[in-house]
Amino acid sequence: MLKPLLVPIAALWLAAAPLHAAELPIFDAHVHYSHDAWERLPPKEAVAILRKAGLKRALVSSSGDEGTQRLVAEAPDLIVPSLRPYRTRGELSSWVRDDSVIAFLEERLSRSRYAAVGEFHLYGADAELPVPKRMVQLAKQHKLVLHAHSDADAVERLFQQDPQARILWAHSGFERPENVAALLRKHKNLWSDLAFRSEHGGAGKVPAEWRALFTEFPDRFMVGTDTFTPERWFYLVEHASWSRAWLADLPAPLAEAIAWRNAENLFSSWKAGAAP
Ligand SMILES: [Zn+2]
Repeated sequence: MLKPLLVPIAALWLAAAPLHAAELPIFDAHVHYSHDAWERLPPKEAVAILRKAGLKRALVSSSGDEGTQRLVAEAPDLIVPSLRPYRTRGELSSWVRDDSVIAFLEERLSRSRYAAVGEFHLYGADAELPVPKRMVQLAKQHKLVLHAHSDADAVERLFQQDPQARILWAHSGFERPENVAALLRKHKNLWSDLAFRSEHGGAGKVPAEWRALFTEFPDRFMVGTDTFTPERWFYLVEHASWSRAWLADLPAPLAEAIAWRNAENLFSSWKAGAAP
């Protein structure tokens, strides 16, 4: 019953990008390209993987930021850059108490343009520490989306610091659907990625509780692979195919929204080479 609905979208896509005519485009909102990834997988090859996966765009961050900049230089049409507050792997729990992170963020923000800051890991009352607080101020000043790998408590504290913030909740907090719904109901500027989760689409079917969640919030969800280790780059193509399989179990407009349109809207002010 859903197949015929997909035809007009496929036809539009055919006009836009003949290479992936039959595929639903995907905006992968959770890609990392850290130093150990680009040492093994040079930017040209990395971009080839993203194109092979049929990605329309990818939100990319990297520890050290250099990987992100290399990818942007290689494919400005494809890469939406996010600034991570980590310089090397292993800073994901120490950054909140490391004052030098602020100088790193300020220096990077003075040199390059970004659409987001993150993905950062931040839990509970740590959101009140000076370093995360300053990061939130910088995000506000530069109009950056906050990509937060956080519990609900930290998300609330981020919104208290900047009620106008736009937050992309990484992995939907690994929360159960009813808890995700509660936070989305409360905050209209909260979006949620589905990275590194599978219970919403195992075996190409969307379970009832997830279907209800996506239906209540059709414009808030987006997909993501989460290439948190270099090896996961080789999973990007398979992840895009897997996403298309479960998205096909949803009505076509909803599938299209989650596949790319919601992310495209969230980052609509981002244009390569222009201030976000
Ligand atoms: Zn991640």
